[in-house]
Amino acid sequence: MIDTSNTVNRVIQYAEPGTTKTQIAELPVEQPGPGQVLVRLSYSGVCHTDYGFCTLKFNNLPIPTPKGQIGGHEGVGQIIALGEGVETPAIGSKVGIKYAADACLSCSNCLEGGETSCSFVKVSGYLTPGTFQQYCLSAARYVTPIPDGLDLAGAAPLMCGGVTVYAALKRVALRNGDWVVVTGAGGGIGHLAIQYAKALGARVLALDAGPKKSFCIGLGADEFVDFMAHGSSEDLISTVKTLTGGGAKTVLMCSSSNKAYAQAIPMLGFRGSLCCLGVPEGENVPIEGAKVTALIDLELSIFAIKTGNRREAKEALELAARGLVKSHYQVRKMEDLTKVSSDTVSNPSDNLRF
Ligand SMILES: [Zn+2]
Ligand SMILES: [Zn+2]
Repeated sequence: MIDTSNTVNRVIQYAEPGTTKTQIAELPVEQPGPGQVLVRLSYSGVCHTDYGFCTLKFNNLPIPTPKGQIGGHEGVGQIIALGEGVETPAIGSKVGIKYAADACLSCSNCLEGGETSCSFVKVSGYLTPGTFQQYCLSAARYVTPIPDGLDLAGAAPLMCGGVTVYAALKRVALRNGDWVVVTGAGGGIGHLAIQYAKALGARVLALDAGPKKSFCIGLGADEFVDFMAHGSSEDLISTVKTLTGGGAKTVLMCSSSNKAYAQAIPMLGFRGSLCCLGVPEGENVPIEGAKVTALIDLELSIFAIKTGNRREAKEALELAARGLVKSHYQVRKMEDLTKVSSDTVSNPSDNLRF
C-alpha cells in the first residue's frame, strides 16, 4: 500500500458544462472505501461521449453534467491501495476503468450481461468522477484486468471504443466471410471496428472520406468507399451493395451523423442488422429509410449497444494482447483536453498522459 497522504491528485474538471472549457485542479488523493480500489492512472483515452457530457450535447440524459465534474471513461493504470474487504485484484495489478464504473450485477439486466443498462449503473465522468485524473477510485469488482503484453497507452482507447465494437460484433453472431460495413471507419471507434471485425473473420467495407483510404486498407479493410466521392446517396448505396454482393450483413454505425444513419438501412442484405453506436447530438430524428415494409422485405434488424460488459471487455483486451488489434493514438498532455475537443483534424484516438 502506497502512502498518498502527502500526494496531490491533478484532475481535469469540466469548467463550464455546455462549453468545451476545462480546468486543472489539485485535489487530495481519496482513500478507497469498502469494496473499492485506488488506481494510479497512467493514461485516459478521450471518447466522443466525453465531449457530449462536457458540452451537454446529449438530450437523453436525466440531468446535466455537474460543473466541476471530472470526465473520462477510458482509464488505465495500476492498483495502489485496496479498500476494506477487497482481496482481488491485488495491489500492483494493471487494470482499466470503463464507461460503467459500477453496476449492481444482480438485477435482470445485469444477469443478462446488460450491466451498462443496470438501473444502478454509475457512469464514469457523468455523475461519478471519471478517468481524467491521476488517481481514481473504482469498484474492485468492476475494474477490467489488463493482460500482460498489452501496453497501457494502447489499452486506453479499447476500454470504451474497442469494447463497444467487439460487443456489437459478438451480438450479430458473425459468420466467416460476412460483410461488415464500418461507417466513420478512420475514426476512434471505426479504426478499432475494422480490426475487430477482421479478427472475427468478417470482410470489411470501410466507409469514410478519401484521405482515410490508405489508413483503413492498412488496418485490413477489404474495400474502401469514399462517401464524399458519390454524388448522391443512391450512388453510394448502390456502390456498397455491389461490393458486398447484394448488401452487408452488418452496418456498424460508428458515425453519429443523421445522414449516415439514413443511408444505412438500404446498405443491408438479407437478415442484415444495423448496429447503432454513434450518438447523434441535439434533436434525435427517427432513422430515415427504416420503413416497416423495408424491414420485413429483407427481415432486417436494428439494434443498439451502449458499450460492452465485463466479459466482453476481458475478451476484447485479450484479442488485442494477441496482437490482432492495435490502437492508433496520439499521447497528449492533460492541459490539452479542451484543444482535443476543438481539433478539427482528429487522430484516431487521443490519449491523455498523467
Ligand atoms: Zn466512450
Ligand atoms: Zn444491475
